[in-house]
Amino acid sequence: MKTYNWISNSPEETNAFAEKLASFLQPGDVLLLEGDLGAGKTTFTKGIAKGLGIKRTVNSPTFTIIKEYQGRIPLYHMDVYRLEDTFEDLGFDEYFDGDGVTIVEWAHLIEDQLPTEYLKINLHHAGNDRRELMLEPVGKRYVLLCEEILS
Ligand code: ADP
Ligand code: MG
Repeated sequence: MKTYNWISNSPEETNAFAEKLASFLQPGDVLLLEGDLGAGKTTFTKGIAKGLGIKRTVNSPTFTIIKEYQGRIPLYHMDVYRLEDTFEDLGFDEYFDGDGVTIVEWAHLIEDQLPTEYLKINLHHAGNDRRELMLEPVGKRYVLLCEEILS
């Protein structure tokens, strides 16, 4: 599987990269974010939100699991870290199949409920404000998306 790497040197760079990615997103797109606490998953999501024209402040939806925002395309932001029972069906499918862009932080925790195609983004601490982003597209649509944003 082809992966794409990108280095960020600051929260602002992560934000700007996500904002650029957002300009290529379409309704129904799914992004999975993986990485330790503080790796930058929520920072990345804020950039996506900005790029989708969302004015409201995006915060980590830790206690609500799913938050919805209205923009050029709606954003469904999920953080399943604190989901007690990861087999619990909260109707994730309706979001994945919906008219918005879905972002899932800690997606592997609901592995069995994920769609078959998505763009997975792994964020790694690489010292101080440096982060390594590894993009792993699954499905043709997401391979093309990676080619578009990284070429
Ligand atoms: P997560 O959602 O993965 O737990 P957050 O986005 O909430 O992570 O937090 C990331 C923290 O790391 C923020 O305080 C952010 O300012 C900081 N940070 C430092 N450098 C970067 C970078 N290059 N990209 C993203 N965040 C960074
Ligand atoms: Mg977070």
